[in-house]
Amino acid sequence: MIKSLTFKKTLGALTILFVLLIMGSHRIQAQTNAERAQAYYYAAEEAYNNEEYSKAVSYCDQVVEILGSSNARVEGLYVKCYYEQNNISKAKEALQTFSNLKPDASLSKEIALYIVRIEEAEKEEERRQELAAEEAEKKAEYDRTHTTCPNCYGSGTTTKKVDCYTCYGSGEVEGSKKTCPVCRGTGKGAVTYDFLGGRKTAGCSNCHNYGWIREKETCPGCHGEGQRTITKTCSICYGKGDIKKE
Ligand SMILES: [Zn+2]
Ligand SMILES: [Zn+2]
Ligand SMILES: [Zn+2]
Repeated sequence: MIKSLTFKKTLGALTILFVLLIMGSHRIQAQTNAERAQAYYYAAEEAYNNEEYSKAVSYCDQVVEILGSSNARVEGLYVKCYYEQNNISKAKEALQTFSNLKPDASLSKEIALYIVRIEEAEKEEERRQELAAEEAEKKAEYDRTHTTCPNCYGSGTTTKKVDCYTCYGSGEVEGSKKTCPVCRGTGKGAVTYDFLGGRKTAGCSNCHNYGWIREKETCPGCHGEGQRTITKTCSICYGKGDIKKE
């Protein structure tokens, strides 16, 4: 009997404790969500101010996920981030959601600036596309009326071989002075005696009495080929690589 009463008391106390715990945790959970959403929003704002726009967008996503819905402040920040990222279609989408969420006057005024900016960016994009289309049309027209130059095969230049102007086509040039190996620099040849015993010295035939010779060396301009390749602007297409079709 005593045991049973103690058991009932214990059970009752546990039930109350359990209910209190559930109630408490609900209250804590609700508070935490609001606080977390606020914290992520502040983090998003800070990221935006630091020009970290994709980071700011992902923090905004977190706010929406925690709250289970969006609000005007978050959508306003989306507008600003997407605009800075040059993602005009997303910015426009966020702007539409922003307007539907009935923002207060000061927030409306801040974001109103982006209505103008987004419209101007759209016009700019339109102009850019028009220009690109014009360019593409011009190029297509050019391709229709022109064909690859048969003279240079589209390169715009032709090459031709000419005699090397360093060696005049020989492939060799005169080297530096060297002592004649035959006369060892004297320029004199063999000594001969005539029938009266007169001494006569011949000149060196190898160096023509100079005492030095120049050996031929490979031309540095053409590497011994005697010819050089020169590149010229194509005379048919004047360097364009294309000519007008007949
Ligand atoms: Zn040469
Ligand atoms: Zn000599
Ligand atoms: Zn050509």
